[in-house]
Amino acid sequence: MYELNETHDAGLRSWVESANAPDTDFPLQNLPFAVYRRQGSHEPLRGGVAIGDQILDLNAAATAGAFEGEAAVAARVAGGETLNALMALGPRAWSALRLALSRALREGFDTQKTLSACLLPQAQAEYGVPASIGDYTDFYTSVHHATNIGRQFRPDNPLLPNYKWVPIGYHGRVSSIGVSGQAFPRPMGQTLPPGALQPEFGPCKRLDYELEIGIFVGPGNVAGEPIPIAEAEAHVFGVCLLNDWSARDIQAWEYQPLGPFLSKNFATTLSPWIVTLEALAPFRMPFSRPADDPQPLPYLDASSDRARGALDLQLEVHLQSQNMREQGLAPKRLTHTSYRHAYWTISQLVAHHTINGCNLKPGDLFGSGTLSGPTLDQAGALIELTKGGKEPIVMPDGQMRTYLEDGDTVILKGWCERPGVRRIGFGECRGTVLQPKTL
Ligand code: CA
Repeated sequence: MYELNETHDAGLRSWVESANAPDTDFPLQNLPFAVYRRQGSHEPLRGGVAIGDQILDLNAAATAGAFEGEAAVAARVAGGETLNALMALGPRAWSALRLALSRALREGFDTQKTLSACLLPQAQAEYGVPASIGDYTDFYTSVHHATNIGRQFRPDNPLLPNYKWVPIGYHGRVSSIGVSGQAFPRPMGQTLPPGALQPEFGPCKRLDYELEIGIFVGPGNVAGEPIPIAEAEAHVFGVCLLNDWSARDIQAWEYQPLGPFLSKNFATTLSPWIVTLEALAPFRMPFSRPADDPQPLPYLDASSDRARGALDLQLEVHLQSQNMREQGLAPKRLTHTSYRHAYWTISQLVAHHTINGCNLKPGDLFGSGTLSGPTLDQAGALIELTKGGKEPIVMPDGQMRTYLEDGDTVILKGWCERPGVRRIGFGECRGTVLQPKTL
């Protein structure tokens, strides 16, 4: 786990003036990574780092001689079309690059003239999925979400007995993962209407979002060699926002006995920026279990994880309908919660995923699972907020919502703040539902 160092100093200011604005997501203390290119161009995607409202081209900065040693090597490999090679390098190289970037972008350093030419305004950029993702695993780490959902399906037995022992997950689909701005047609599929004896076929009627974080794997492990929990974070490059769009009616009919399939694999949206664990170091919190819950088995327990395994990451969901967009109405905030309420930590997910010998590779992605907080207004999906579609939400234009309608845009936001520490943000994860494509 990362210690605080000079890169976290709240007093640091950048020569990129917009990075000093109190409300920016991307001050000098953040330095998240993405792949990007000039909007509308056919340039290859390349790695960049966010600073204020600008993006620094890492390869161009390295070519300009801004970095030395390990940081220069890291900046060069980060200049490729995906960040996999940077993710593979591991924490020492990531830290060296972060320190070098922090110094090169700092007010008063003579790098301004050289590096100004390597900046592109974010307003002129478009983004790619930041890694070539080999495998995607979606977990289920919010006990509040698991209980709320379980109550709808099994009122007498909401939380299954394995939940508090095993971090529940399933293998997801990579091909339909997109980056913020993704738009996709409402999925078609089989559903079983209430009381019906046989399914019908048509557009999904209960389309939902899931508020999650995405966790990108760093170096990973050789098959057959599990990652011990105390070393798990050395294998995590960073964190982004993730929307795991879900077709609830398709899910309810198809999910037994093997779990979700077509109800989940039509689209998953990521925010473009990956915030590193080192940037998140000031916002870590103790991980604890209620005394009357089972304590984690030894392979899922470590003193380092008990001390700082949780992360106080503020999360919001906003919804804007097509009608609201046309009327110029701002998106409505549906939820505000924190990742610190998760039942399982990032380290526990890594340790559990590899304990059977399964190998993780650089650029693999975990979804945290829907992050619902302890109260219903902190729920991370419409199925919880509307109690399974029974209690509609009134939108600012007077329309009602139980599930998503065509033209709806869902926006996830995330940030970390704490007294005495510079606030850092994650930017946005935005996606829009289009009309179904009928056969
Ligand atoms: Ca999910």
